[in-house]
Amino acid sequence: MRPSFTSTLPDELGPYPSHATSAAPPRAQPSILLLDDDQFTLGVLSRMLRSMDYETVGTAASAEAALALLHDEPHAFDVIVCDLNMPGVDGIEFLQRLSKTPFRGNVILLSGEGLRIMHTVQKMLGHGGLLILGSLEKPAGRSELRALLDCWRPMVIAPPPQAAIAIDGEEIHIANHEQQWLVHYQPKVDLRTGDVIGVEALIRWNHPQHGLLYPDSFITVAEESGAVDALTYWVVHAATGQLGKWHMSGLHIQMAVNVSMENLRAPEFSSRMSSLVDQAMVAPKDLILEITEGRLMGTASVPLENLVRLRMKRFGLSIDDFGTGHSSLVQLRDVPFTELKIDRGFVHAARHNQIIRPILEGSIGIAKRLRMSSVAEGVESEDDWHLLREIGCDLAQGWFIAEPMPPELVPQWIAQWEARRERLVAQ
Ligand code: C2E
Ligand code: CA
Ligand code: CA
Repeated sequence: MRPSFTSTLPDELGPYPSHATSAAPPRAQPSILLLDDDQFTLGVLSRMLRSMDYETVGTAASAEAALALLHDEPHAFDVIVCDLNMPGVDGIEFLQRLSKTPFRGNVILLSGEGLRIMHTVQKMLGHGGLLILGSLEKPAGRSELRALLDCWRPMVIAPPPQAAIAIDGEEIHIANHEQQWLVHYQPKVDLRTGDVIGVEALIRWNHPQHGLLYPDSFITVAEESGAVDALTYWVVHAATGQLGKWHMSGLHIQMAVNVSMENLRAPEFSSRMSSLVDQAMVAPKDLILEITEGRLMGTASVPLENLVRLRMKRFGLSIDDFGTGHSSLVQLRDVPFTELKIDRGFVHAARHNQIIRPILEGSIGIAKRLRMSSVAEGVESEDDWHLLREIGCDLAQGWFIAEPMPPELVPQWIAQWEARRERLVAQ
C-alpha cells in the first residue's frame, strides 16, 4: 500500500541551528483542533487521537466556527488538522485568514485531492508564515497521523533572519581589503565506505558590528557590487592553502569551493585558479569548483571558455544546487561537469515524500548515466543516509554527518567519524 502522507517539515524548519534558534522546553503533547465539514471524518479522527492518548482534541465543522474558537482563544490549540475541501470558506481561505491571526501553532492538511495538490498548497501557505507539518490523504491512517504529530515541536520564536541586516557593497570592498573573512569546512563522505572524501569551503564574515555573518546575507550584494572576484580569490587562496597543509600532514582529501557565475565572466579566471593551486602545491584534480548559477549564463562565451579550460586542466566541476534556479538540464548538457550536487530540497525526508523521492532517484540516475559523481547535500538524518545508500548516491554532505567547522576541528571530527561510520556502512 502506498503511504499517504508527506512531511515537508524540514523545508519549513530550515534554519541552520548555529543561526541561533534555541529549543524551548518540550511540552509532552500538542492540543489538536480538527476542522472538517464531514462529521464522520471528525468522529473517526477524534477517536483515533484519543486512542493515541492525545487528551485535548477539539472539533469544528466549519471554517467560521474554527475562526470563532481561535478568536476567543488563539493559543488553545497547538495543531490544526484542516480539511481543504469545505463548502463556503474552504481550507485554503481558512488558512490564509488564520495566518493573519495570532495563532502560532502548526497545521496538518487533510484532503482527498492527492498529494501533489496538497504539496502546492503547503508551499503556498508556508510563504504566508504558517508552519505546515505535512499532508494527509483521506482516509487518514493512524500511523501516518502519528508520524506527522511526532514531528510537532512547541513553537520557538526565531531571531530575525540575518538577511534583515542591510549590507552595502562598500562594506564588502572594505571586508575584502581588511580580510574580514573566515572559512569553515563541511565534510563530504562516501556513502558506500564511509571514507571522508573531501570538504566544502564555506565563507563566513567576521563583521566588525554584526558579528559572524553567513553568506546568504552578503553573497548577492558582493556579486552586484563587483566585489565577488576578490572574495572568491581570497576563499580559494585560503582553502587551497589549508588543503596543502592537510596533504602535508597525510590527510589526502579534496577541497570544494563555491564559484559564482559572475566569477566566470572574468577572462583570467581559469589562469588565476591554476596559479592558486600551484602556489599551494595541490593538484587541480583535488579542487572542485561548485558552480551555482543565480542568473542565466545566456550565450556569453567567456564563462564557457573558462569552464572548458578548467576541465582541460583537470579541475573538478560541480553543478551545485542541481534542480533549482538555473542549475538545470541545459547546463548539464552544455558544460563538462564532473559532479552533480543535488539540492538539499530534494534530499532530506525523501523517503516519505512521493514527490521529491522520484526527483532524487532520477537525478542520481542522470549522474550515473553521464558518469558524474552524485553528491546529496542536506543529509540531516540517519533515514536520509540509508535511503541514499539504497538508491546508490555516491557522496553525502549535511548536518547528520557534520556541520561546517573551523579547520582546526577537522582532524578531531575525523577521529569521531571513524567511530561512527562502521555502523553506518554495515549492510
Ligand atoms: P551551498 O553551496 O548550497 O552550501 C551549503 C549550505 O547548506 C551551507 O550554508 C551549509 O552550511 C548548509 N548546510 C549544510 N548542511 C546542511 C544540512 O544538513 N541542512 C541544511 N538545511 N543546510 C545545510 P552556508 O554556509 O550558509 O552557505 C550558503 C550558500 O552561500 C552556499 O550554499 C553557497 O551557495 C554560498 N557560499 C558559501 N560560501 C561561498 C563562497 O565562498 N563563495 C560564493 N560565491 N558563495 C558561497
Ligand atoms: Ca556549494
Ligand atoms: Ca545547495
